[in-house]
Amino acid sequence: MTAKNYFLNYNPVTGEEIGKYSIPSQSEIIKAKKSATEASQFWKDSSFSKRSELLKEIRKKIIANLTELIETICLDTGKVQLEALMADIYPSLEILYYYEKNLADILQPEKRKTPLTALGNKSWVEYYPRGVVAIISPWNYPFQLSLVPIITAIAAGNAVIYKPSEETPLTGEKIADLFADITRLPSGLLQIIQGPGEVGKGLIESGPDMIFFTGSVATGKKIMAQAAKKLIPVELELGGKDPFIVLKDAPLARAATGAVYGAFANTGQLCVGAERFYVQEEIAEEFKELVKEKTKELRVNQGPKGDIGPLTTPQQKNKIIEQVEEALAKGANIIEPDNFTSSLHDNNISREEAYPAEIQPVILDNLEEDLKILQEETFGPVMPILTFSSVDEVIQRANNSHLGLNSSVWSKDRQLARRIARELETGNCMINDVIKNVGNPYLPFGGVKMSGIGRYHGPEGLKNFSNTKSIMLNKSQAEKELNWFPFKEEVYQDLKTYLENYYGDRSLLEKISGTIPLLLRFLKG
Ligand code: NAD
Repeated sequence: MTAKNYFLNYNPVTGEEIGKYSIPSQSEIIKAKKSATEASQFWKDSSFSKRSELLKEIRKKIIANLTELIETICLDTGKVQLEALMADIYPSLEILYYYEKNLADILQPEKRKTPLTALGNKSWVEYYPRGVVAIISPWNYPFQLSLVPIITAIAAGNAVIYKPSEETPLTGEKIADLFADITRLPSGLLQIIQGPGEVGKGLIESGPDMIFFTGSVATGKKIMAQAAKKLIPVELELGGKDPFIVLKDAPLARAATGAVYGAFANTGQLCVGAERFYVQEEIAEEFKELVKEKTKELRVNQGPKGDIGPLTTPQQKNKIIEQVEEALAKGANIIEPDNFTSSLHDNNISREEAYPAEIQPVILDNLEEDLKILQEETFGPVMPILTFSSVDEVIQRANNSHLGLNSSVWSKDRQLARRIARELETGNCMINDVIKNVGNPYLPFGGVKMSGIGRYHGPEGLKNFSNTKSIMLNKSQAEKELNWFPFKEEVYQDLKTYLENYYGDRSLLEKISGTIPLLLRFLKG
């Protein structure tokens, strides 16, 4: 465990200390796990209507505390208020409402078919809770990326131990508070533990029944390696390097406005932010002019009512500036801003000087594909623009990445856009818009390649937080089944004839006649 038993939280705008939190010892984490296991034993048998009622209550509490929640998210992250409302709170409400209305349908037993050799049986699938789910969250959307997995896990009948990011503990506390005074819930159903990565490690060590992690690829790998020792199932929601593809027939002004939003929303600190811009040659110059113009209009670092705030942490700034500087050193051209002046964050300067970690949105072109800015996640307000000539070429270049989270395709030709969407190696794709697909509660969300494992949101999300049990019921009262001992030669012959006719390349008549002897034998018992 860490030497210090507390950590501090700072206001990203002023650098002021805004919170001091105790870091739990390993024995406290184990105690939390024990209490969560006990709570899960009660909650697993809760009715679907009771769970829906809980989601409704949380939804109403969010609305009753809306202003306070927005202010807390902004204070914790430095983000502007519309971003907190639209991208943190609103998608959470959508998911809450969707599961409140649909969880019973999604989780109810599902009838399945039974093959002929099991005639007289009934088959179905049941979903039951996994037990205790560890939820470990990042700082960039601290409300949505915590509350959504929490309520999904609880709606599926699990107990949760939640570790928010050490950068956004205040939002974590507010989420825990939403559940705190609901006395009808078993105590320990949702517990929060605060602290740095070591606490997350300790949480996994305590042996939860599932881990739901959102964060970087590097941490995702560590979590999966640790989970492997106990074979704990993991769902990993990791980083992205999302391509944004603009075809020559795209609605250009709209695509350019979408590009500026996709690149710079939340100061680029967005896993599904657009990070590589591929524009067809014929329209590239016009597109660049438009995005430059629209970027100049942005209200950057003008407080919570502006468009773009500072970065949440000064450390984040270095990674972004280093990528931009490498690109510039290797011949990249800056389209915007006219005077790029950002300097690296110096770890030796005082906290007051380090905050706010402001950075201007940057648009670049003339880029080599092997630059870090095109290969690694940037997680900052940077728009690198590349050009392409053919559709096949752009698909191949967009797929040339170890990441595959979201993507965005722009064209008036819907058939072509759909073909590109199908061929892109990403878990999700948005046509003629950007980012919005993540907020659709009906759709599953998650990555391919190193962007992650598993899906949440939609029916898939609720089922992922459940164990699937398949059940068969044999209605027969006969003393013996055909395949039980003692084996008989005539059963062998009838079964063989059935398999040859039914699964072989035979006519329908042969299939039916080949099945009859076996059917008769079944009926005789
Ligand atoms: P991070 O990986 O540094 O930290 C995420 C969480 O993991 C934090 O709570 C941290 O304390 C914890 N942690 C760190 N080391 C740990 C360990 N060894 N064991 C257990 N827990 C540990 O990520 P971050 O900087 O908070 O978030 C930014 C990253 O998250 C970006 O890469 C971004 O793309 C990704 N992200 C992905 C999604 C998605 O849905 N796919 C959404 C948002 C952010």
